[in-house]
Amino acid sequence: MTTAYWNGDYLPLEQVRISPLDRGFLFADGVYEVVAAYGGHLFERDAHVRRLERSLAALRIETDFDAEGWARLLETLVARNGGGDLAVYLQVTRGAAATRGHAFPSPEVRPSVFASASPLMRLAPDTLAQGLAAVTLDDIRWLRCEIKSIALLGNVLAQQHALEHGATETIQVRDGLVSEGASTNVFVVRNGAIATPIADHRILAGITRAVVIRLACEHGLPLAERDVSRSELESADEIWIASTTKEVAPVTRLDGRPVGDGQPGPVWARVRALFEQVLPA
Ligand code: PMP
Repeated sequence: MTTAYWNGDYLPLEQVRISPLDRGFLFADGVYEVVAAYGGHLFERDAHVRRLERSLAALRIETDFDAEGWARLLETLVARNGGGDLAVYLQVTRGAAATRGHAFPSPEVRPSVFASASPLMRLAPDTLAQGLAAVTLDDIRWLRCEIKSIALLGNVLAQQHALEHGATETIQVRDGLVSEGASTNVFVVRNGAIATPIADHRILAGITRAVVIRLACEHGLPLAERDVSRSELESADEIWIASTTKEVAPVTRLDGRPVGDGQPGPVWARVRALFEQVLPA
């Protein structure tokens, strides 16, 4: 049974009751994080907490938690769910006011804090060896994609588009430039050089993305954060997607055509090996 956290209490997930007036439900007025635990150890916990605090600040949601409090909540939830390989979901909304209205409620209305854990569904070695299929789609989302907001309709439609086209991920393109996947960041490799879109308002600054960049830097692999055009994507030798739950995975088919030679590339294999070394044992 999953143990959840809801506004100060740890309780079975089934027992959590949320008001229909919660602004998360009415307006998607909230933010979230997904943090992976390996063998009960949270990966990049503090980076996730920092991003949560940035998202909250961007939406001007003020909670009673500080960084230490968030860390303790995450650690407690992992422990209460028995450790192991988990995906911890944490969501904070602007709370439930007595009546519905778009503008912020009075400060007495306290944010709602919810967290739960589920098994971390890692991509199997076979899947990685084969690589994933991706399709492209226009990025129709708002221009504050750096906020990890629970308003995810564009991402939902993009993910459904992938599913309906026999692919695992949709790579979104805005004004001829690659932005990101439905729930992943994108890397391309051309002639041995790695590139990934700049982490500005057009994408979420992924924690996995940051780990990949750090590893490339530490190991002398050429990597640039810059605009990546659709034509660079389409002519890439390698494409990877990166996220907390997908880790770093190769894309070997794009819009039904092979990427490079259609196999996961050598640069991916190198970075993937480095990535596995930094995961908690
Ligand atoms: N972009 C989007 C839109 C996402 O939803 C995610 C997953 N949360 C990512 C990128 C990857 O972020 P992270 O590596 O922090 O999971």
